[in-house]
Amino acid sequence: NTRITLARRPQGAPVAEDFHIEQVPVPQPSEGEVLLKILHLSLDPYMRGRMSTAKSYAKPVEIGNVMEGGTVAEVVRSNHADFKPGDIVLSHSGWQSYALSDGKGLRKLDPDTAPISTALGVLGMPGFTAYAGLLTIGQPKPGETVVVAAASGAVGSVVGQIARIKGARAVGIAGGPDKCAFLREELGFDVAVDHRAPDFAEQLKAACPNGIDVYFENVGGHVFEAVFPLLNTYARVPVCGLIAHYNQDGQAQDGPDRLPGFMRQVLSRSLQIRGFIQTEFSDQRDTFLKDAAGWIADGRLRYREDVVEGLENAPQAFIGLLEGRNFGKLVVKVA
Ligand code: NDP
Repeated sequence: NTRITLARRPQGAPVAEDFHIEQVPVPQPSEGEVLLKILHLSLDPYMRGRMSTAKSYAKPVEIGNVMEGGTVAEVVRSNHADFKPGDIVLSHSGWQSYALSDGKGLRKLDPDTAPISTALGVLGMPGFTAYAGLLTIGQPKPGETVVVAAASGAVGSVVGQIARIKGARAVGIAGGPDKCAFLREELGFDVAVDHRAPDFAEQLKAACPNGIDVYFENVGGHVFEAVFPLLNTYARVPVCGLIAHYNQDGQAQDGPDRLPGFMRQVLSRSLQIRGFIQTEFSDQRDTFLKDAAGWIADGRLRYREDVVEGLENAPQAFIGLLEGRNFGKLVVKVA
């Protein structure tokens, strides 16, 4: 049984030494428990927050404990009435190859309806985040311009495609020409803009001749700087993530105080800027699963997975996620 624990808290960007890879015996299930063999581990940006003690909506992982994470697993032994060996389940077992569960929070998956790894991506937490955040807070209308950052990723790719399904114009922001080509050619975005281009802000302005009605924020940093002047009166900004800042651990940046000017713009343009954590909308999960499965079936919702082989490669893959090295939903094939 391989497991990856938090060795120490990162200073800035995580490095390999912040993780510890160890071998421990496979645990044995007690009465009422199941033994899970982890098949897929989801790597997600929120895990950077769990490595830090900075104030957050969730508790950090303790030093020496297994890194947290969503997983798809197979029941290999069962002392639980509701599960039998061979069942495939969605669990939150973390970065390890075997785990015990008392059954709470496990959801059975049907391998015949969708590839099981999609329960971590397009049909899982990231897809749901896109759906709930865009439709509840963003509320795109036909003909409006929706801009999304980290657009080729797990959340952003779904945001842009749902915007199109709702009749809006989808503008994706991504890092590099390959990701931009993918947005236009594979996912049907109307325009894709490369945030690494030297004239990114001008390109974004040209891509949004009628301004921006909805900006789905995943990134912050220089991307938000370019977006902000283009927001229309009554624009909606679901604030989903700020990945460009996750390695800053909440420290304030030096520089002039820009908050008064920013707030003046929020006021004068009647902007709605609204943060959210997806669990807030969990009552929408069933409608999401129904809608998303239907859109995948009729070809309107596509997805791309970036699959890394082997649990021991999870730390490097996770470090890469915070630098944009992944291309699509990042998943580790554990077994
Ligand atoms: P992605 O699959 O989109 O991967 C992260 C991407 O972010 C990278 O591929 C890269 O894309 C971009 N990126 C990374 N670092 C930077 C940087 N410094 N500047 C600009 N772009 C960067 O991840 P997810 O789809 O899983 O997550 C997207 C966002 O959604 C994250 O901020 C995450 O925290 C948030 N989230 C929030 C939830 C909530 O409940 N509020 C739930 C789930 C996710 P590129 O190469 O295109 O720049």
